[in-house]
Amino acid sequence: MEAAAHGRPVTLVAVSKTHPAEAVREALGAGQRVFGENRVQEAKTKFPELKADFPDLELHLIGPLQTNKVRDAVALFDVIETIDRPKLARAVADEMERSGRRPKVLIQVNTGREPQKAGVEPEQLDAMVAICREQYRLPLAGLMCIPPAEEDPAPHFHLLAAMAARHGLAMVSMGMSGDFETAIAEGATHVRVGSAIFGHRG
Ligand SMILES: *Cc1c(COP(=O)(O)O)cnc(C)c1O
Repeated sequence: MEAAAHGRPVTLVAVSKTHPAEAVREALGAGQRVFGENRVQEAKTKFPELKADFPDLELHLIGPLQTNKVRDAVALFDVIETIDRPKLARAVADEMERSGRRPKVLIQVNTGREPQKAGVEPEQLDAMVAICREQYRLPLAGLMCIPPAEEDPAPHFHLLAAMAARHGLAMVSMGMSGDFETAIAEGATHVRVGSAIFGHRG
């Protein structure tokens, strides 16, 4: 589903983590085609069948990716939003080479520099973009971020959109149920919305 923001299309990534395949089917029935999951293992239990039934379904990985799950991730996901370290970039590139499948990738940026959060720090982004593009020839398409929960997200969204523009990256994935309107105002091309669509997670 797409919503227009200032004449710009914004893609809704429906985050179906913890919700059963039937909930995804219901959303598919309503016309939604883009979904997000944060765990490879959980996505593997739900999506192969759904993708067989809906070939235009587009699945995004929005959670951290361990190198031992890269093979499954490259096989199943159409967009991997959480590239956050050179070792992972390399593992994904190797697996693309091996399998011939080339999902788009996004770099996750830790805009709030939170120690417990994944993502490259803003100062490391230029180097990471070069590693992805030049060293590993990854299909780098954009950036994603999850701002600190207790802060005004607007400056974080603003920074991410500016960094994406500076690198000529078209996809800007930011904004969740609580802040997607702010994210759209700041230039999101993709918002990741879970509970506002599927209800609260148990
Ligand atoms: C769960 C999750 C979302 C969706 O969160 P809601 O608050 O339920 O909309 C978005 N992005 C990421 C990375 C998530 O893990």
